[in-house]
Amino acid sequence: MHEMTLAADVVAEVERCLGDFEPGASVVSVTLQVGRLRAVVPDALAFCFEVVSKGTPVEGARLVIEQMAVRLRCAPCGNEWTATEAEFMCPACEGPVEVLQGKELLLRAIEIDDGTE
Ligand SMILES: [Zn+2]
Repeated sequence: MHEMTLAADVVAEVERCLGDFEPGASVVSVTLQVGRLRAVVPDALAFCFEVVSKGTPVEGARLVIEQMAVRLRCAPCGNEWTATEAEFMCPACEGPVEVLQGKELLLRAIEIDDGTE
């Protein structure tokens, strides 16, 4: 269950960012971009995030997971397509493929309420 490790990393990173704000600031939401090749189960990640953030300044934040489709490209013929399952050969020429998108694991946005409103 690598979601627990991932959740711990995310919470640590958000806490680090929160250090730049006033002590009363709280995290409203955290947006993650996760490529489908990462094989992350969104529900499991959301659950782990809740568990890991408990008792930290990140507790109560909404976790938004943006899943990124897998985009592949064939180097020999330039064919580009979105993979619906694991494909490692170009359907047109059977050439080797490279991954253009789908391996992302990014902390894309953190919405913080600094308590001034
Ligand atoms: Zn090809």
